Amino acid sequence: MVVPPDHPRYYSLLYRERLIEKFKEGIVVAQGLIAHGRGEAFDYILGERTVPSALKAEKAAAALLKLAKRPVVSVNGNVAALVPRELVKLSEALGCPLEVNLFYRSEERAKKIAELLEAHGAREVLWVPEEELPNLSSERRKVSKRGIATADVVLVALEDGDRTEALKKLGKKVIAIDLNPFSRTARSADISIIDNVIRAIPNIIKFVKEISYEEAKKVLEEYDNSLTLKESVKEIREWLDKMIEEM
Ligand code: ATP
Ligand code: MG
Repeated sequence: MVVPPDHPRYYSLLYRERLIEKFKEGIVVAQGLIAHGRGEAFDYILGERTVPSALKAEKAAAALLKLAKRPVVSVNGNVAALVPRELVKLSEALGCPLEVNLFYRSEERAKKIAELLEAHGAREVLWVPEEELPNLSSERRKVSKRGIATADVVLVALEDGDRTEALKKLGKKVIAIDLNPFSRTARSADISIIDNVIRAIPNIIKFVKEISYEEAKKVLEEYDNSLTLKESVKEIREWLDKMIEEM
């Protein structure tokens, strides 16, 4: 379907169309469409913008990625469908691989996602897992030796809380992009970005390019994730108060 550009919800409709297209191609699963709907609901009450606390988390994420020895960007179907080019740009800015990691994993789907990223210019996409993470029973336990298995910092989006916890138990730092500030993922990550991946990834790329090593250290010293997470909920509350006044 062609989305009319003057529609008041143009971008929302455009991204829905993109997900549906990728669903038909076997890149996105039906469960991913449901997850997107939950994300949209949270995005609505955030005002469909990057709230100040999210921008702070995005800067801290860029700092952590910049200082990491072995960062890796974990990719699932929805993220690949929504921001393939931006994922490639982020991996280039960091000089790190992209790794396909799926809850509803099939060999065929993992390969299709890798091919989509390669079509957008990705040089290194890890999609054939050689190892398994302990303390995780889902398909997400399957990881690549050169990627998540040996990474010190993992960026995840639209994540399942279980894996965030499993990665943390292994001593890895986890950066999560999740519109729901109440999810287990957001509450257990080291840096929780309460923003849409569509806005978050370009913001992180910008910060990675701008930030110096010195500044990155300073940003991390001053960053408090629990405080930032609470701020995001307060920003939702403020936005809702504003909406009430306008009713
Ligand atoms: P958890 O296991 O962490 O408690 P969950 O089970 O509630 O999370 P899942 O269905 O596993 O959630 O994952 C979907 C999550 O991704 C939701 O929290 C949703 O808000 C978020 N999400 C969906 N679309 C986007 C998007 N475009 N950008 C950022 N987050 C998104
Ligand atoms: Mg879950």
